Amino acid sequence: MYDYLIIGSGLFGSVCARELTNMGYKCLIIEKRSHIGGNCYTENIDGINVHKYGPHIFHTSNQNIWKYVTSLVDFNHFRYNPKVNYKGTMYSFPINLLTLHQVYGVTTPQDALQKLEDVKLHIESPQNLEEWALSQIGPELYEIFIKGYTTKQWGRSPKELPASIIKRLPIRTTYDDNYYFDKYQGIPVGGYTKIFEKLLTGIDIQLNVDYFSNKEYFDDIANKIIYTGPIDQFYDYKFGKLEYRSLIFEQQKLEVPDYQGVAGVNYTDVDVPYTRIVEHKHFEFGKQPTTIITKEYPSSVGEPYYPVNDLVNNERYKKYKFLMDNETKFIFGGRLAEYKYYDMHQIIGSALKTVNIIKGGKE
Ligand code: FAD
Repeated sequence: MYDYLIIGSGLFGSVCARELTNMGYKCLIIEKRSHIGGNCYTENIDGINVHKYGPHIFHTSNQNIWKYVTSLVDFNHFRYNPKVNYKGTMYSFPINLLTLHQVYGVTTPQDALQKLEDVKLHIESPQNLEEWALSQIGPELYEIFIKGYTTKQWGRSPKELPASIIKRLPIRTTYDDNYYFDKYQGIPVGGYTKIFEKLLTGIDIQLNVDYFSNKEYFDDIANKIIYTGPIDQFYDYKFGKLEYRSLIFEQQKLEVPDYQGVAGVNYTDVDVPYTRIVEHKHFEFGKQPTTIITKEYPSSVGEPYYPVNDLVNNERYKKYKFLMDNETKFIFGGRLAEYKYYDMHQIIGSALKTVNIIKGGKE
């Protein structure tokens, strides 16, 4: 008999398993995939750590979370400075002074601010993403950076999307092109899978095991269960399916040492079917003779990646949440059980909080 059965070896499940084991509890993890690490998983191919479920850049301003991850593995000094390819022309991104120079020819922050003022459309109360973007950056920047990319990513017109999706997009009148504002940033040296190998040392784990293939059996082998899978599936979709956007990853090995000179290039033209190309070696400054790239094609079917947190889905989730709050044997956590997009540092924070609550219960 186990104290805790943990369903899913992603970041939430793995941090919980480590901390609970350290507290003296006996834990078992089951994972339906053939590997540990959930969506953070990296696979070493020809010496290159390939981010199999999309590029993952660790970033946080929380010193405790940074201490936690750097106590597990070393991190490098990688900073994410993606570029944009729009109809064959390259742009600096996120939008910064160099971008504004490339589009408008301005050379100073004052001229850039003035230009932005001149091109903005005056829309009283923007009702959707398109109107909001036009009121912030005007038609030309909207066309190059937002319109096609967002249409592809979400599979619908920006006119049908809430502005909240991109409200966090930074627009700078300095040359700072760091995608993130956080104080601590980097990539684990040797790939993310190393973090999970460290977290799961000495813990029982069964791969290729789907909890739902034998739910009754699994429910009986532990006193408590931590579930990190999709919450609608847990309740047999009784209130309906929660909607997600998915991605199809097309991976290629190329016989060149460097394909695009940077980790990420966004393709923002609506006529290009993929949204970005990731070249994995750049995350760790690789010098291998060959390279591996991944093209990302947005899709409405496939693995659940981005929750569609619109009104209908959020209302549906609330019904599931009511049931979750009344469970006594189950603890729910992670992006799929909470139906929320979380970055890695937030998941670690939430797993540590969950364990702290358990700790309070034990003492
Ligand atoms: P997951 O990693 O999804 O783990 C859940 C695990 O549960 C999976 O391994 C799954 O197989 C398993 N599971 C589910 N159901 C069952 C079942 N029935 N039986 C057994 N096992 C089951 N965050 C950042 O901080 N920086 C980034 O740059 C970044 N980039 C991202 C890019 C993309 C394309 C995506 C999709 C996410 C990105 N994230 C990023 C977010 C990051 O991936 C998540 O924060 C993190 O992976 C969430 O961990 P989790 O444990 O909640 O979920």
